[in-house]
Amino acid sequence: MQILENYSLRELNTFGFEAAARYFVEVHSAEEVLEALRFVQHHDLPLLLLGEGSNVILADDIAGLVLKLGNAGIEVVGDDEHSVTLRIGAGQNWHQLVCWCLAQGYYGLENLSLIPGSVGAAPVQNIGAYGVELKDVFHSLEAVDCQKHELVTLNRADCLFGYRESLFKGGGRGRYIICHVNLTLSTVPEANTQYGAIADELGRRGLEETPQSVSEVVCQLRRSKLPDPTEIGNAGSFFKNPVINNHHCEALKQQFPGLVAYPEAQGFSKLAAGWLIEQCGWKGVREAHVGVHEQQALVLVNYGAGTAEELLALAARIRTSVQERFGVILEMEPTIYPG
Ligand SMILES: Cc1cc2nc3c(=O)[nH]c(=O)nc-3n(C[C@H](O)[C@H](O)[C@H](O)COP(=O)(O)OP(=O)(O)OC[C@H]3O[C@@H](n4cnc5c(N)ncnc54)[C@H](O)[C@@H]3O)c2cc1C
Repeated sequence: MQILENYSLRELNTFGFEAAARYFVEVHSAEEVLEALRFVQHHDLPLLLLGEGSNVILADDIAGLVLKLGNAGIEVVGDDEHSVTLRIGAGQNWHQLVCWCLAQGYYGLENLSLIPGSVGAAPVQNIGAYGVELKDVFHSLEAVDCQKHELVTLNRADCLFGYRESLFKGGGRGRYIICHVNLTLSTVPEANTQYGAIADELGRRGLEETPQSVSEVVCQLRRSKLPDPTEIGNAGSFFKNPVINNHHCEALKQQFPGLVAYPEAQGFSKLAAGWLIEQCGWKGVREAHVGVHEQQALVLVNYGAGTAEELLALAARIRTSVQERFGVILEMEPTIYPG
């Protein structure tokens, strides 16, 4: 384990913001995680975990240790007639996992194809897309508990998964370093086409409903809608889709007949944040070196020389205008560091 000093994180965050870590280390096992933990305790330093940096905003230098999990790898640890359970290293790339599972005949991740990032970060915001969330296939995870300094196993109920939420963003923030994630996948090739755009696209292309074709269509839809972070800095959706009560939703529908809303749990509706932002005239707006993507109002971008300060100022103006027009408060999806 080699701890590096004054390490540039520019290549390690998909916005491409310049920020330096006082110390940086890539670890490959729970033992190395514990060793890194002893280092931060001994030097009384803050600790920041970084996966592939696709859901963070590095707003300044990090005056502590940045720890990246580098342990990739997938193993089958259980199976029965219709399912397998996989144990996956936190450093494994998510989309490569999806592709590997499809090739093996393990199903359930297709709708989550092409989401950037690492497996270790996937439970943090319970990644989701096209009608599926990580929690749907989640079995358990193994993490180092930074309070107890020991390896713990957390099951689905422990993780408190919600829409882009979990224990790791809430009460357990900063407490757990996820080392392995265990998923249970089906060996029955059933396609999940409940999300309208998938069914439409399969029909339009005359494709059969198979897990493979769903993955193909999801990849194509994502490529057509979202900017590639290797070309334009971004972190995908910048704001969460806000959830409001049905009373408020009905009142908004009266006033704005085009409002895009989906029923949620009892008495609540989820609004399309991108639609709200677009209605406020932000789509395609560029300010200095940052802006709102031309095809997707929910995605804020760094055109290259932008700073986190510029981006956050733009985000604040967008939030204010949506609140003034619709009375809805937008919550940011990426996490800002230093916090
Ligand atoms: C173009 C684009 C499209 C996207 N589309 C989607 C989408 O459809 N759905 C969706 O849900 N997300 C989406 N995202 C967001 C992002 O891909 C996910 O949140 C992903 O899980 C982040 O993985 P990462 O490895 O890059 O995590 P990072 O950005 O490095 O970290 C994210 C958070 O997790 C913490 N973390 C990282 N690793 C660990 C670990 N091992 N243990 C504990 N905490 C850890 C970090 O401290 C940080 O708080 C998109 C992003 C981009 C750029």
